[in-house]
Amino acid sequence: MLAMNYRGPQRVRIDQKPLPQILHPEDAIIRVTRSCICGSDLHLYNGNVPDTRVGETFGHEFIGVVEEVGYAIQKLKVGDNVIVPFNIACGRCAFCKQGLYGNCHESNPQATAAGGIFGYSHTTGGYCGGQAEYVRVPYADVGPTVIPEGMDLDDAVLLTDVVPTGYQAAEMGGIQKGDTVVVFGAGPIGIMAAKCAWLFGAGRVIIIDQIEYRLEFARNYAQCEAYNFRSLEDPVVFIKKTTDSLGADVCIDAVGAEAAGNAMQTITGRKLLLQAGSATALHWAINSVKKGGIVSIVGVYGPTDNLVPIGNVVNKGITIRANQASVKRLLPKMIEHVQEGRINPKALITHRIPLEEVADAYRIFSDKLDNCIKTVLIPPS
Ligand code: NAD
Ligand code: ZN
Repeated sequence: MLAMNYRGPQRVRIDQKPLPQILHPEDAIIRVTRSCICGSDLHLYNGNVPDTRVGETFGHEFIGVVEEVGYAIQKLKVGDNVIVPFNIACGRCAFCKQGLYGNCHESNPQATAAGGIFGYSHTTGGYCGGQAEYVRVPYADVGPTVIPEGMDLDDAVLLTDVVPTGYQAAEMGGIQKGDTVVVFGAGPIGIMAAKCAWLFGAGRVIIIDQIEYRLEFARNYAQCEAYNFRSLEDPVVFIKKTTDSLGADVCIDAVGAEAAGNAMQTITGRKLLLQAGSATALHWAINSVKKGGIVSIVGVYGPTDNLVPIGNVVNKGITIRANQASVKRLLPKMIEHVQEGRINPKALITHRIPLEEVADAYRIFSDKLDNCIKTVLIPPS
């Protein structure tokens, strides 16, 4: 089968790989009909996730048709069209039982990492990803959810990650009616978080990024205010000024690790006292949220990051909430939001690219070329 193949930092290509096999009675094999490239894949692509091995196939956002099931599978049937959550969850460990499907113990027992994730290095279990024609799905009676009749496949594929993650970012923010919410990062996740903030009753939503076309997209899609941090004196000062010196009620970090490192280089001229690799967006979030406010982090980080202003967290009484999205927990509600027209996921898709052209697809998404917001890979039919 055709599959994306990681060759080292910023080098991916399309290759032939053996078809996946059922390895466990609770597995299913899915023929992929759509997969996406995610901002999380860029951490892998840039070589910033430990234990990412040459030869791995990435891809944790995919939908497809069930081709084969293991003998223990009871719910899923051959021929079902399914949304596959990006988290691999056993459904029975202590964490899954609490609804923490992104922190499943059985699929990835490493204490310091997320639960299992498709195509996301050996740090999250070493599972093969879905940027391929076929993929093995473990615990297939737990995560995969039949795509509702009539749902557009482009909407369905964004329910594997972007929609629930954006929603969970807003949910973790504990947004109260009338709150001012500031979202850092106008990638697909930040834009979706801004959109969802309104569903929780936000009174004002502000998004901050450095890429004009993304800010413009966010203004239209999420009906929010959007500012370029390159043209602000200092985003923290700006947010204080625009909130009567109090700070935002809720700040959301939808940037994560090395994207923030890149942004850093663009602002060193303005004497921000940070070091390369430190979390710029997270700093801004902590320093611009009000006393007693909430910082919600969905941006992905490595196990450690330097110079987080933890003193300010303590002195201001800030609550920090963070996690991988719990896709299975949120999926029924997200399907309702899409069916009832409150969220229109497919509007985020700017690029539909054949799987065979995966190297170009990564370059376009990574370098933010051609006004790219979200890229979908289409396997040959
Ligand atoms: P993306 O790379 O498309 O977008 C990131 C955006 O952040 C870019 O537009 C970039 O210009 C902007 N940016 C960089 N530095 C910034 C700064 N200091 N302030 C404001 N904006 C800044 O990525 P995406 O797909 O939107 O994903 C965003 C983050 O969410 C990534 O870290 C990704 O790994 C993470 N993520 C987490 C989960 C989860 O479950 N927690 C799921 C999916 C993605
Ligand atoms: Zn993703």
